[in-house]
Amino acid sequence: MNSEIKAQLEKLAFKRSKPFCYSCYEETATGCCQHCGSDDLMRLIPEVGCEYGTD
Ligand SMILES: [Zn+2]
Repeated sequence: MNSEIKAQLEKLAFKRSKPFCYSCYEETATGCCQHCGSDDLMRLIPEVGCEYGTD
């Protein structure tokens, strides 16, 4: 895949998704979980689910 397109898709994925702590099952507004302090967060996309990474 064209790397420029991939970079744009990745940006879009970040825009459309929210950081999500899977262990607390909570959305996290900041870069790390306010409950457990973890920064190992998944990306949650409403109606799609959550995945690690942006693919
Ligand atoms: Zn947490």
